[in-house]
Amino acid sequence: MVKKIEHIGIAVENIEQSLKIYEEILGSKCYKTEVVETEAVKTAFIAIGESKIELLEATSEESPIAQFLRKKGRGMHHIAFDVDNLENELERLLQLDYQLIHKTPKAGADNKLIAFLHPKSTDGVLIELCQDKI
Ligand code: ZN
Repeated sequence: MVKKIEHIGIAVENIEQSLKIYEEILGSKCYKTEVVETEAVKTAFIAIGESKIELLEATSEESPIAQFLRKKGRGMHHIAFDVDNLENELERLLQLDYQLIHKTPKAGADNKLIAFLHPKSTDGVLIELCQDKI
């Protein structure tokens, strides 16, 4: 079951500069920064009510975020939905013929298990499904 919008991911060139902008707009401070080595990204989170903004900066030229910035420039990168059982959701969506980037859950930032759906099968939007690690 999909429960809520967990966060919106935004690709940025410089996380410190972008944090200043989002902290000013939202009137809320970043509560966590974290490097995800496997994705070659540095992340920063700002809470807004039940949801979050996740800023993403590439830590290498091969990072998916570096590739995204070269292709599309700065801006919205993905939307993440909170689910109660990630494995069940992936199985359900696979049976409905959605293209999964990750067929099994993997470790993501902010203590989550995550998996991405390919934008080809979701009207051009990169969708992340995530579940709290128990
Ligand atoms: Zn995310």
